[in-house]
Order: sequence, then structure tokens, then C-alpha cells
Amino acid sequence: MILVLSKSISPHDREMIRIYLHDRGFAIREQQLGNEVIIGATGKGVVDLRELGLLPGVERVAATAKPYELVSRETKPEDTIVTVGPVKIGGARISVIAGPCAVESKAQIMETAARVRESGAVMLRGGAYKPRTSPYAFQGLGMEGLEYMKAAGETYGMPIVTEVVSPELAVHMKDLTDMFQIGARNMQNFELLKKVGALGKPVLLKRGPSATIEEWLLSAEYLLASGTRDVVLCERGIRTFETYTRNTLDISAIPVVKSLAHLPVIVDPSHAVGIRAKVSPVALAAIAAGADGLTVEVHPHPDEALSDGPQSLYPEQFERLLRDIEAMAPVVGKELLRIPRPQTGLGEAVQPSVFVQQGAAGKVAFSGESGAYAEQALIRAFGEEASRLSVSSFSAVFDAVLDGSAVAGVVPVENSLAGSIHENYDLFLRYPDIGIVGELKLRIVHCLIAQAGATLESIRTVRSHPQGFAQCREFLLQHPSWQMETYANTATAVASIAREGVAPQGTLPRVAAIAGEAAAKEFGLHILKSGIETNPLNYTRFVIIARKIGDTAPVPPSLGSDKPNKASLVFSVSDTPGALFTCLQIVSEKDINISKLESRPIQGKPWRYLFYVDVNIPKTPGVFEAAMEALRSQTKDFRVLGSYHAPQGG
Ligand code: PEP
Ligand code: MN
Repeated sequence: MILVLSKSISPHDREMIRIYLHDRGFAIREQQLGNEVIIGATGKGVVDLRELGLLPGVERVAATAKPYELVSRETKPEDTIVTVGPVKIGGARISVIAGPCAVESKAQIMETAARVRESGAVMLRGGAYKPRTSPYAFQGLGMEGLEYMKAAGETYGMPIVTEVVSPELAVHMKDLTDMFQIGARNMQNFELLKKVGALGKPVLLKRGPSATIEEWLLSAEYLLASGTRDVVLCERGIRTFETYTRNTLDISAIPVVKSLAHLPVIVDPSHAVGIRAKVSPVALAAIAAGADGLTVEVHPHPDEALSDGPQSLYPEQFERLLRDIEAMAPVVGKELLRIPRPQTGLGEAVQPSVFVQQGAAGKVAFSGESGAYAEQALIRAFGEEASRLSVSSFSAVFDAVLDGSAVAGVVPVENSLAGSIHENYDLFLRYPDIGIVGELKLRIVHCLIAQAGATLESIRTVRSHPQGFAQCREFLLQHPSWQMETYANTATAVASIAREGVAPQGTLPRVAAIAGEAAAKEFGLHILKSGIETNPLNYTRFVIIARKIGDTAPVPPSLGSDKPNKASLVFSVSDTPGALFTCLQIVSEKDINISKLESRPIQGKPWRYLFYVDVNIPKTPGVFEAAMEALRSQTKDFRVLGSYHAPQGG
């Protein structure tokens, strides 16, 4: 049984609860979990839960038949997001850890770190103490290896995670590692769990090869009960009758554990399958099943590896895997986590102090109410904890960024079903001091949302943004009698229904809105039908905007600082034959790919057009800059709206 105490509980009421439970035969433990204080009560005592819930200072009571409490979702319904330095694991992100099985030399860990960092890993793994099946196998470099790994992590700006094999070593390793790994063989080494838990550092807890999910969660309970708050669970394959692969990845453990526990769950495909060629497909399956991340063995020369070479990916394979994950992320409603590089000097990247100086305390603006798709995009780009500024129109987002009340803004520019959001393209012309610093693609799943009790037959009116109607065209054609009412955005349409309240007695609700699930949740409304967009491959591309300082807009540090791979340009051309062709030829000759070309009428100049062009930036230095110079001389009103990093996929 778990009691969650109210945050304002007085010491007296807290003592009364202790006495109450003690007198009725319960053993109690008090614990801080996230920002809540909870009491776990076990024993043979009998108590009326409703009565318990009425005691002063008790916020919530849950009876649990589960043997674990602190890890349970009943105790803490929301996802725990584990923080390891600049890295977050859990929530709306996919975090990838990579590195060799074992640290073999300084050069090896440095080279691996450089390669995996370049491909997008956010943490470095590597064993300094290796628990090997054979006593004659390489046992690791010990503390020396850990020192090398710490140096590699610092050089490449990645927190490190390494396995700890004994309580005594845990104390020595504490200041050298950012996260402890408890290996599969030690999952039930309870003295180790207690010691490591008490050190308070983040812990990656592998599932034992023969452990049930419940045993695994009980081991996590040991860690939380001993004092750490940051535990990540790692499924790494279990022992079954199958011998083709090293272990059998229990993919169903991912959704099962995510429903039972609030802790993030990642997957180790390398130890699960033990065969290099099978690692990437299994890793992708884990992401599809809802894993919050991966830990993958990568070695610059797997054939020479001192341990687990046959399952270690070549750096090129790892790079490809991350590209595939990036492409898949919007489908599972997540973003591949990127973190800032340690040093600047990469062009656009700047230190957080620039944003503090701007004085807006890091607010990011979006148009719409809570639950809007733009807010989802914002959370995906900046994290759950980002402070948000909700404004009522797209131009208000630009205004907020310009006047400094927000350090950045998030606006949609195009949808894969309904096309461009022209208003935002036009706004870039009205706000020349604002540039594009990033983009992301959000998968849009539309729902028909109404007050409880509504049926498809009772609806007469549907409210949404014109894009919402356009993206659900086929569904709406099945209901030709419905009136459509246009709103500034989808979440505002949902809010209007919530504000109008429930239908008069004896009548059924007549109004519905088309918006996302988050908006229905935000306003406590009911989803009549989900997935009503014409095609499930429905994505909206959002751009992140910031105020320019000089010629470029600084990238908010939380967006990461991957090298720009895309640029958005705008220009007009003279009204002469071949003018546009000449521009395209410049781009084509430099082998630059155009990913989008759009023309918009120039206001006040009938029949004259501006061209908006998105191009991919080639890797060869100087090529892009030379093409831009040539274009500038061939065009009028030439502007680079921004060059930025665009994730793959969507
Ligand atoms: C490891 O990750 O280095 C390792 C030894 O894995 P496991 O404990 O899952 O076998
Ligand atoms: Mn290994």
C-alpha cells in the first residue's frame, strides 16, 4: 500500500499518519520520489483505504498487490526522466549510448568516442572491469581504463557509463563515472545494489539473463530504496532454448515494463543477439516497441577487439543505424536526442549565456493553447521542462521572438498531406531579423474530440484549423452534413468546446473538434474517433526561429549543435526568359540537392513571385558558400532564412 503525502503536510499530520499505520500493524518506509513524499506500508494490518485517504495530509492512497512500490507506476503515474549531465533519458526522446565492450587502450576509446559522437551517440559506454565467463579471458584495464574513458568522455562531451562489479570498487569509481552500470550477472547482487544505490548516482540496471520482469523490478526497487532517484532499466536478452542468437531479446518486456514502472527502459541489442548483422534490425524493433534508447557496442576495428568483437558494429554501421532511428523517430512520436558539443567554434553554436543575456529566461513561443501540435513540437525540440509562451497567432510568435519575450519560437511551415502554411512563409519577409535555426517533423494523428456522450450521429458542427480539415478530407466527406467552423488552431477549437460546457440535459453534444490527443487530454474531453487523417503518413514540418545577431541567428544550446545540413533561401528573379533556370543551374552544377521549391506572390507587385528554396548543404567545405554567392549575384532580394540541422526522415 502506498500513501502519497500532500506537499504542504505539517510535521504533526505526518506523525499522526505514522502512528495510525503503526497501530494497525504496518511496517512503514518513507521515501522522496521525484518531488513527492510517499509512505510505503507493508504487513498484515487491515485498514479501510477510503478512511486512510481522508486523513489530513494524505493526497492519494493506492493499494498495491505488487511487491515493489518505488518503481511502480501506481506510485508515480508520470514517466521518470533520468538526467546524466546534459543527457536526458525517457519521455519524448530516444537517447543512444555507444562504445566498445571494453576499454582496451587510450587510443581505442578515444577513437571510438570520436566516431560514435560524430554519428549522434550522446553517452559513451565501455567496460573497465569485465565480468567474463572464463577466468582466462581479458578482464579489463580496471581503474586505468576508467581514467582513459573519463578523458574520452570529456574530450567529446559525452557522459560515461561503466559497469561496477563490487561494492568496494563502487566507492573508488564514483568520481570517475557519470553513471554506474549493474551488469546482467550482478542484477541480484543485493549488497552491490544497496551500495551503488546509496551513492546516489544514476544507474543503468541490466536485466539478468534468467530474471523475470518482477525480479528485475525488485532489483530496481533496491536501488531506489537505497537512495538513488535515477535508474534506467536495460533489457539485454534472456536465456531461452534458442541458441542461434547469444540470448533472446524479450521485446515484449518493453511495453510491459513501461506499464508497470515509471522508469525509462532502454535496450542493448548487442548482448541480446551477439551477431553483428542482427544488431541493427533488433535495435530498430526495440525503438518501434517503445524503448527510450539503446546501448550499442561499437568498435573501430571489431576484428581486433579483445571482447565481443563479433557483436560490435563498425562505426559506419552505427552511423547508418542512427540515421534509420532518426527517420523512424517521428513515427513513434519521439525525437532522437542530440546534445551540444563541448566546444563552440562550429559556427552557429553559442553558449547558454547568450540566451540568459537576452533576458527571456529561455521561454519558447508557440501559437495556440496547451495541447496544440506546436506545443508538442516545442516539447520534442526543447524538452518537457522548457518554459513555454503560448500566444494567439503565428505573427505573435514572431513578435515574441523579436521583442525578446521568447528566445525562440516554433511555427509550422508545411504538412505532408495539405501542403505549405503560407502565412508563415510570408511572415519571414515581414520579419527580416528572424532566422531559422532548426526544424523537426511531427507525426500528426488527428482525433475527433467532443464532450462525453457524443456520437458520430449527434455531431452537427466540427471545429478546427483549415489544415485540420484539409488533412481529414476523406473522413469529412463521409459526413457531408457537418458544418465546418474555422479556428486559429486545433487546440483552440477544443478549448472552445470545453468552455461551452456539457450539452443541455436530455440532448447529446452536437459540436466536435479535430485536434490531437494531447488537446483532448488537456481539456478533459472525449475522443470519439482517433486516426481520422486521410493517410497515416501525415507529418507537419515545424521550424524553430530565433532573432538574428548580425547575419546569423544563434542556435538555442538545448537544440544541440550538429553541423547544418540544410538551408532555406528566398529570392526573386528578373522577369526574363531563363532567369529561374539560371539559378537552378548554379545549384545543380554544384551538385546541391533542392528539397523544396515554392513560389509566393509578392505583395503589392501583381504577377511577380518570390521563390522559397530549401537545399541540402553538401559536406565539402566551401561548395555551399560559393553557390550562395553565385545565386546572390543572379537574383534579387536574396536572403538565407537560415542554415540549420534537419533530422532525417518524416
Ligand atoms: C556489457 O554491457 O558490457 C555487458 C557485459 O552486458 P551484460 O551485463 O548485459 O552481459
Ligand atoms: Mn560486451
